[in-house]
Amino acid sequence: MYFPSWLSQLCRGLSRPIGRTTQPTWGSFSRSLALSSQRRIPEFSSFIARTNTCGELRSSHLGQEVTLCGWIQYRRQNIFLVLRDFHGLVQVVIPQDESAASVKKILCEAPLESVVQVSGTVISRPPGQENPKMPTGEIEIKVKTAELLNSCKRLPFEIKDFVKKTEALRLQYRYLDLRSFQMQYNLRLRSQVVMKMREYLCNLHGFVDIETPTLFKRTPGGAKEFLVPSREPGKFYSLPQSPQQFKQLLMVGGLDRYFQVARCYRDEGSRPDRQPEFTQIDIEMSFVDQTGIRSLIEGLLQYSWPSDKNPLVVPFPSMTFAEALATYGTDKPDTRFGMKIVDISNAFRNTEVRFLQDALSKPQGTVKAMCVREGANYLKRKDIESIRKFAADHFNECSLLGKLRLACADLLEMKGMVLRDPAQFSFLWVVDFPLFLPKEENPMELESAHHPFTAPHPGDIHLLYTEPEKVRSQHYDLVLNGTEIGGGSIRIHDAELQHYILATLLKEDVKLLSHLLQALDYGAPPHGGIALGLDRLMCLVTGAPSIRDVIAFPKSFRGHDLMSNAPDSVPPQELKPYHIQVSWPADSEAERAH
Ligand code: ASP
Repeated sequence: MYFPSWLSQLCRGLSRPIGRTTQPTWGSFSRSLALSSQRRIPEFSSFIARTNTCGELRSSHLGQEVTLCGWIQYRRQNIFLVLRDFHGLVQVVIPQDESAASVKKILCEAPLESVVQVSGTVISRPPGQENPKMPTGEIEIKVKTAELLNSCKRLPFEIKDFVKKTEALRLQYRYLDLRSFQMQYNLRLRSQVVMKMREYLCNLHGFVDIETPTLFKRTPGGAKEFLVPSREPGKFYSLPQSPQQFKQLLMVGGLDRYFQVARCYRDEGSRPDRQPEFTQIDIEMSFVDQTGIRSLIEGLLQYSWPSDKNPLVVPFPSMTFAEALATYGTDKPDTRFGMKIVDISNAFRNTEVRFLQDALSKPQGTVKAMCVREGANYLKRKDIESIRKFAADHFNECSLLGKLRLACADLLEMKGMVLRDPAQFSFLWVVDFPLFLPKEENPMELESAHHPFTAPHPGDIHLLYTEPEKVRSQHYDLVLNGTEIGGGSIRIHDAELQHYILATLLKEDVKLLSHLLQALDYGAPPHGGIALGLDRLMCLVTGAPSIRDVIAFPKSFRGHDLMSNAPDSVPPQELKPYHIQVSWPADSEAERAH
């Protein structure tokens, strides 16, 4: 388990030391979250069987009769039991007298992680037995009654953050993994950030939260979509890769400030920062320009930013796409550290070094360099060799220098240099993207750099009809510490221009988008929007190693749900209503026969 920086911040003030070998304290973290971002402390025990949470009891509660519900964290010599809920830990004294034999039996025999309800009195611990490392360490519960609500079988792993377990095991028993401090923190913080976002958008700025369909149809461009069979022969729904078209149609419908915590689906396989289904904070506004969208997002993030982190400074810096590529070798630069790429072609114009001469004689050939400060002190011959090999392996990628920059940073950090402070949050707007890029599979054809609804830069419209590859767009990305966490654009609201781009430049089948084209002709207002990747944002905020750590039930790296085994097979008779049949690959056919 990782111990990111927030943990020490969160636990600051608690006296138990926090470090790699120490289990995080089940302190009053939920209350600290509540206090940090809400004006009122929520009522954690309303409507249910308990009177208090385990972590909230203090000396001020002495003498109170309480009922607590929680999981048995551990037991000491059949005398003490520590009870845990999401709010913290509390010590329960197991009664030893004959008259309470049945209570003793329940509390001593229930296996660890069983769930129990206890009622009793809050008493002070005998002098000298206080535990200053525990927020509830001054008190304990003198139990009168106890009920075993459910017993726990032998666990596949211990519910302790410092006990290492593979991710596959954690995902298989996700409901147990969710009991960990880390997952509790991540999911509760996520919920609070979303709450603040809703507050900012709806209450402070008049946005309307609107749900859009998740059964839609296949549309051109963009990521691969998941298909859903329908009962009509040969007809399929598709799961939307984003609510893009719907949010634009809402603008035509006069719902001029829309937002949604939207689930999106892309059939692209998992990566550390990707999931086949993920969540976006999806936003669209009418009568807005880029500056308006950027200010909105800066205000939104500033407002919802967890208060245990340094407040965000706005406006965020911005950089053009061309500048990002030239100085960082990527369109999502990590600006927490320098090591910029510099063009040193001029210094070599008269060089006699052959390979440099060759490079410079090519059209647009350049010689570029990067200063790895203190590299000579930190990097050994074998590191330089690994950099050389990396460069050779990635030679034909134009983003090579950007990758090399990150590879050098990895090497330096492995040697102990701190280049990318995980507690630092460097936001950056990247703007002026090209409207089109050459298609990967056929560079003679164009594809949208963002999506086909993005408006061209007003200064470049004339180029659309002559040199479309040179047109810049009104697309902007938001980058945080080298990860793209959001992107959007001002949209095309003119049907004719949209038709020209789709049909003539992108060679798409416009019939598939006739509903949108038609809508643009009925008084569509100028509009624009953005989507923030909530999973990626929360992953960076919590310092988690993967977005799977901020999603309650994520898919595995290969897109599987390891807990329920989804996707799963369906018997042929259940496929019949959909008029589809599985054509089994030869090897799996043989496997099935066994
Ligand atoms: N629909 C876009 C996306 O999912 C975001 C936007 O343009 O608003 O990337």
